[in-house]
Amino acid sequence: MARAVLSGTSVSPGIALGKVQKLLPSGMVEERRILPGECAAECAALRQAAARARDELKLASEQVPADLAEQGDIIRAHMQLCQDPKLLGTAERRIHEQHLCASWALSCTVEELCALFHGMDDPYLRERAQDIKAVGRRIQTCLLGCEAARGRTMPHVLIAEDISPADALRLNLRGMLGLVTMEGGPTSHTAILSRSLHLPAVVGVTSLMDMVEDGDFIIVDAVRGCVHVAPDEDEVAQFSARQEEYLAWEHSTRHNAPLPAETLDGVRVTVQANMESPDECAAALGAGAEGAGLYRTEFAYLRASRFPTEEQLFQEYRDVARRMAPARVVFRTLDAGADKMLRSQEALKEPNPNLGLRAIRFCLRHREVFHTQLRALLRAGLYGNTAIMIPMISSLQEVQEVRRLITEVSQGLSAAGIPHRDDMPLGVMIETPAAVMVADSLARECDFFSIGTNDLLCYLMAIDRNNKHVSYLHDPLHPAMVLSLKRVIDCAHREGIGVSVCGELSTDPHGLALLLGMGVDSVSAACTSVPAIKHMIRHLDAEICSELAHSVLASTDAAASSRMVRETLAQCLGEELVFHNTMLQTNG
Ligand code: PEP
Ligand code: MG
Repeated sequence: MARAVLSGTSVSPGIALGKVQKLLPSGMVEERRILPGECAAECAALRQAAARARDELKLASEQVPADLAEQGDIIRAHMQLCQDPKLLGTAERRIHEQHLCASWALSCTVEELCALFHGMDDPYLRERAQDIKAVGRRIQTCLLGCEAARGRTMPHVLIAEDISPADALRLNLRGMLGLVTMEGGPTSHTAILSRSLHLPAVVGVTSLMDMVEDGDFIIVDAVRGCVHVAPDEDEVAQFSARQEEYLAWEHSTRHNAPLPAETLDGVRVTVQANMESPDECAAALGAGAEGAGLYRTEFAYLRASRFPTEEQLFQEYRDVARRMAPARVVFRTLDAGADKMLRSQEALKEPNPNLGLRAIRFCLRHREVFHTQLRALLRAGLYGNTAIMIPMISSLQEVQEVRRLITEVSQGLSAAGIPHRDDMPLGVMIETPAAVMVADSLARECDFFSIGTNDLLCYLMAIDRNNKHVSYLHDPLHPAMVLSLKRVIDCAHREGIGVSVCGELSTDPHGLALLLGMGVDSVSAACTSVPAIKHMIRHLDAEICSELAHSVLASTDAAASSRMVRETLAQCLGEELVFHNTMLQTNG
């Protein structure tokens, strides 16, 4: 392995030193010889993966919409193939006789069977080769998920092409020191995942997977945004010292986390946590979060093998509401789609799911799914200080429809004598350019706004969230973004409602200074960012930020705006800037 420094984008701060473990992309084949003593474990992993693949298909078959019945037949045929004795038996024989790992044995068997079918005269049978290939790929993906079961839990830096929310569920978190991926940007789910796991992470390291192998030693510098491959002793010593320094600074921000976030001139800003599971309550409160400004509810749907029941959702929401009380929890309704696809959405095969039936659009189409969630939310409302928030709103009529549904659900619960809260505040996420344009009428219809800057910036700039080819356009200081933020905040305040920012922009010191200057009421970010955000707010002056926002709003050049913000921050933060910049660099 040759020494090299590879650059990327830091998305979660810190420094990690350790040996590499690769997360193979879904469907990829691992070609590894095994020892005779490992055969039984490999066969067990293969059986387990085939069973998991079958379960996944069963779930998918249950979610196929009625108008796609043919799709359902194909899925059921694939389910049978997952248990096919010829496929599994032959692969197991290869494991025992040729000492191939499960992945390799399966791939050889799939190839052999495909060749057999390809040679047949009957066109119907010839085409079955495609089905075998598809099932083989699916089992391969599940096999990768059995890694943890095979005991690979040594301390390691995980490297991958990309980590999707589905990959995240099969990750072996034990022993993970840091994360590096080839794809992804500052708001990708790898970024969000690494921040919530509190692991240093660098994304967009393009040549990574070709340059390093399992077991190679690397340094992840998620302060500067680079990866040192095969470092020498001096570098290891130098980065071990930097790691200590960084941890000391982080410790001091955590120590002061319970203090309020009040600027030097006395402006109080509420700082909340973005959460996605009840397990995070203690971490959020410990980080000084004043509630949850965004509770992402979709993970219960992605994690489960079928749609969660009302009772399951109710228990989750009640648990979170109780643990966070008296602080507020803003529950965002199901934001499925795009990079958080449910299987029933995958079956639709939308050409561009980012612009498709996602979030509230999906919920309004699948009323039964939405009803179940709303019932659970209204019932849980009795156990704490809660609010409901709707993602991806693009018209006033959607909000009115949601209000009507909430009333209907509340009436249904009353009729059945089920205790619930019927006056839960309703807010909307501002994530689409359309919502920005109609923010004045939206503000009259709801109780609060929360700006989802991750999606808003992408939709404004017409860029995909994870597409590195256009990541250069991902600039929150672009005048279109700055003007949008200002418009939304002003519209909210004119109608007397509060406005929060729950996208990653608030963890970027440039963004945070600007938002303060525009008068945002609260921000919500990953638990791990909360202490540093509060720390920074305590070192800023709202009046100076307001003058800064004024200048940036008048600017037509993002680079010039960036210079202005940098200079102002340097004046306000002095020596501290280097530390806050660490946070800045972790957000692109
Ligand atoms: C956003 O888009 O800014 C947001 C907070 O929502 P998510 O990241 O879950 O899409
Ligand atoms: Mg969003």
